[in-house]
Amino acid sequence: MKFQRAFGLILVLILGTAGTLAALRAQQAAPTAKDAQAQADERILIEIRDHNEIMANLAYLSDMIGQRLTGSENLKKANDWTRQRFADYGLASAHLEAWTVAHGWTRGAARGRILSPAEHPLTLASYGWAPGTGGPVSGPVAYVKGESPADLEAYRGKLKGAIVITNTPTPLPPQDTPTPNPMLVPYDDPFLLIRPLRPGEQPEQDRERRRRFVRARQDFLKSEGAIAMLTDSGKFDGLLNMTGLGGRTYGIAPIPAAFITSENYSLIWRLMQRGPVRVEVDITNSISDKPIEVYNTVAEIRGSEKPDEIVVLGAHLDSWDLGTGTTDNGTGSMVVLEAARAIQKLGLRPKRTIRFALFSGEEQGLNGSRAYVAAHKDEVPRISGALIHDTGTGRVISISLMRNYQARQVMDKVVAPLHALGLLELSERWMTGSDHVPFEEAGVPGFYCIQEPAQYFQTHHSQADTFDQAHEADLVEGAQVMAAWAYNVAQLPELLPRKPARDPSLD
Ligand SMILES: [Zn+2]
Repeated sequence: MKFQRAFGLILVLILGTAGTLAALRAQQAAPTAKDAQAQADERILIEIRDHNEIMANLAYLSDMIGQRLTGSENLKKANDWTRQRFADYGLASAHLEAWTVAHGWTRGAARGRILSPAEHPLTLASYGWAPGTGGPVSGPVAYVKGESPADLEAYRGKLKGAIVITNTPTPLPPQDTPTPNPMLVPYDDPFLLIRPLRPGEQPEQDRERRRRFVRARQDFLKSEGAIAMLTDSGKFDGLLNMTGLGGRTYGIAPIPAAFITSENYSLIWRLMQRGPVRVEVDITNSISDKPIEVYNTVAEIRGSEKPDEIVVLGAHLDSWDLGTGTTDNGTGSMVVLEAARAIQKLGLRPKRTIRFALFSGEEQGLNGSRAYVAAHKDEVPRISGALIHDTGTGRVISISLMRNYQARQVMDKVVAPLHALGLLELSERWMTGSDHVPFEEAGVPGFYCIQEPAQYFQTHHSQADTFDQAHEADLVEGAQVMAAWAYNVAQLPELLPRKPARDPSLD
């Protein structure tokens, strides 16, 4: 005990001396570039902590504008409003960048019921870019099992007039199971998208293959005379899921298709074990026959030394339309807007340009960011990196390197000041399916915020994706991470190191 106390005293003395020397040195020497950067980072963190406008902006976007389906008037309102917010914050360059979708799609009413062996109401919502039924239609439910076009041959001649289901009910974990930490989930956890990459796995290619099969199955069902398809939402508490069937080209699906609640789906499945089940559905959607112009909102803080070199902070402003798109991805969009506000307000003059991009068309296949990368292809060699926030309200716990190991050392330095916020070391976990992918595919280092789950996969795309889901403290931290990351990358001596080009023979 005594020894410890004495040791402690010596340690205090040593530290005290070191501290005094450091203070003296600091008084004598002019601040170094490193000191200036540390000060700038600290100012960014404090500005966002003390003066952020994230929740006020998110409330307006969620409640006063609402769902932002690509091609809808609401999304255009959100584009105009975010452009104005960037301008209000002093970013002179805020503007909209147009691209085009082949068809706009508007949800109409959808209802359905089980007719026999016993009558039960169904809760359903049409897939995006799927047609209506043209009035009530009914038919026997048929289970079509298959993972490849060849599997479908077994059903040829058997589906005329049928309402098709294509999966066994989705197993849900017990509802009191805590959501696993995304940094720790095993390879095969079915409930999270963020997991380590298996050796040789090419997630974007797998995703594309799956998309092509779903489309081929729809064509098959149409050619066989099936009248509709029903899908399990796979969520708790009567929540619906949503996605589109029009693909990246915004085509229209061949037959009507709808999500039903997990409870409804399980009921149909149980009844099918007893015998034939008949279902009626009535879906009314409207589809524009002309292409529609849609927009990304873009603003920038111009670089003071290398204005032609660019750091991108991005999120998608579009959403699905059952809720108000708060966590998917109003949160990311408002975090990017807040990062812009804070850097501009502090009068920091980054060496490189920091560009803030709110993409549209993400939900139908990363289309707005693809359009952005295509429209800016001359700039691509000078984009240092892009960081995307798109997993809801949860705090950012790490940044995915997306296998860009060349950038690891530099990125470690970039995020060092953020460890005080609780940011963990850079992650090798892989995330597909968001707006960093088109940048990556063009050779730009694309990075993704790994966030705490915060119910994201339960509520996103559902009726419950509303302002109630947003957690202020977590979003403040997200904005701090993004703003400081962008500023620090903009100040680096060089562009971030790029991955070697992918060898296509390995695909
Ligand atoms: Zn999203």
